[in-house]
Amino acid sequence: MVYKSFGILSAFIVVNLRKFFLMNHSFSVADRFMRYVQIDTQSDPHSNSFPSTEKQKDLSRILVNELIEMGISDAHLDDWGYVYATIPATSNKNVPVICFCAHVDTSSDSSGTGVKPLIHNKWNGEAITLPDDPTQVIRPDDHPYLKERIGDDIITASGKTLLGADDKAGVAIIMDAASYLMRNPEIAHGTIKILFTPDEEIGRGVEKLDIQKLGASYAYTLDGSERGSLEDETFSADGITITINGISAHPGFAKGKMVNAVKVAGAFLEALPKLGLSPETTTDREGFIHPVHIQGTAESAVVSFILRDFVTGRLDDYAILLEKTIQSVIINYPGASYSIERKEQYRNMKEVLDQHPMVAAYAEEAIRRAGMPVRKLPVRGGTDGSRLSFMGLPCPNIFTGEMAFHSKLEYVSVQDMEKAVEVVVELVKIWVEKES
Ligand SMILES: [Zn+2]
Repeated sequence: MVYKSFGILSAFIVVNLRKFFLMNHSFSVADRFMRYVQIDTQSDPHSNSFPSTEKQKDLSRILVNELIEMGISDAHLDDWGYVYATIPATSNKNVPVICFCAHVDTSSDSSGTGVKPLIHNKWNGEAITLPDDPTQVIRPDDHPYLKERIGDDIITASGKTLLGADDKAGVAIIMDAASYLMRNPEIAHGTIKILFTPDEEIGRGVEKLDIQKLGASYAYTLDGSERGSLEDETFSADGITITINGISAHPGFAKGKMVNAVKVAGAFLEALPKLGLSPETTTDREGFIHPVHIQGTAESAVVSFILRDFVTGRLDDYAILLEKTIQSVIINYPGASYSIERKEQYRNMKEVLDQHPMVAAYAEEAIRRAGMPVRKLPVRGGTDGSRLSFMGLPCPNIFTGEMAFHSKLEYVSVQDMEKAVEVVVELVKIWVEKES
C-alpha cells in the first residue's frame, strides 16, 4: 500500500503513518468487553452435550450479528457453537491465510451469572474492594502485575462472580481489530479467518472444529495474560491410571487371607518422591507427577495421575518411576498385583512451532512494533493452541491483559486490551511484508 508507492523515502513516513492510523482509531474493545461479559457463557464439565451449555451461543449469535454489521458477510454460527468468519484479503499477493481465535465460554470455578463489570478509571494503586462482597479485595501486594498498571483503566467484576476476561478480552480484541481492518481497507493484508470456540475451559474447545472449513494455515489464540507476552510453549501431558488388585475376605475371618488394596495404595503414595516432582514443589520449567484421584476397596484400588513436563521424553521417565515405585511397594504384599494404563493427553506446541519459526517470530515483531518488550513464558498447562498445533494449525498464544482468571478477583486493563488490538493489526501487516 502506501509504503510501496513512497519507495525509499518511506521509512520516516511509514513510522508516522502507523502511529497516525492507530491514534486515529477510537477503540471499541472496552465497550465490547463490558457488553460481552454480561452474557452468561459458563461451560459445564459434567455435561455430555456439545457445546456443553446452549447459553454459550447467546454470545456467539451477537458476535455473528456484529461481524455481519461490519461487512463480514460469511460470519455464521454452526450447530456445535463455533463462529467462523472471513475478512477478505486487501492485498493481491499470495499471503498465507491466518486465523485469530478466542473462546466464548467462562470457567465453572466461579459463577458467571449476572456479571456486573466495573471500570476503575485511572486506577490510583489502592486496593480495590468489590462492592457486592466487600470480603473480595484485589490487593496490589497479592497481584504484582497490577502494580505495573497504575494509571490504567482497570475493569473488575463486582464481587459475586468472575469477570470473564478469560477469554472475553480475547473475543473483544479480535472484534475490535476486525472492525478496524474492515474500516481501513487501505491496510494491506491477506485473508484473515476469525474463529470463536465454545468449551475451552473444559478442554473440549477444538473437539468439533472443522479445520478444513476454517481453511487457515496458521493461527493465534488471544488468551494470554500480561502485556507483551507471547506463549509458544506448553506442557506435554499424559495421564496414568494404576489399578491395584488385593485379595478381599470377610473382615471377621480375614486372618492370613486378606490383602487390602487400599493399604497398598496408601503405601505406594507414601513412597513417591517428596522433595520434588509435584505441583506443590515445582515451578518454571520443572515437570511433575501428580496424583489427582483415588478410589478403592480392599479388593481393588485405582490411583490416577497426571504427568507433565516441557520435554516430552521425560514423561517416559516419570512413567518408569511410577512403575518402579509400585513394584518396590507391592512385593511387601504377597498376593497383590497391579496394572498400568497410560494415555497421551496433549503435547508441547513448541514441537510444532519450531518447524514454523516465523509464526511466533512475526508475533514477537508485532508486539515490538506496538511498542512493548516481548515477554516469553512457558505455559504450565495446555491451551487450545497446543491441540490446534497438533491438528495441523500451528498456534501460539498472544496476551490480552486478562489476570487472576477463574476467580472473583479477575481483572483486566483497558489499555492492555487496546495494545493487543494494535498487535493484531501489526501482525496482519507483517505477514504481507514478510511472506509475499
Ligand atoms: Zn482462556
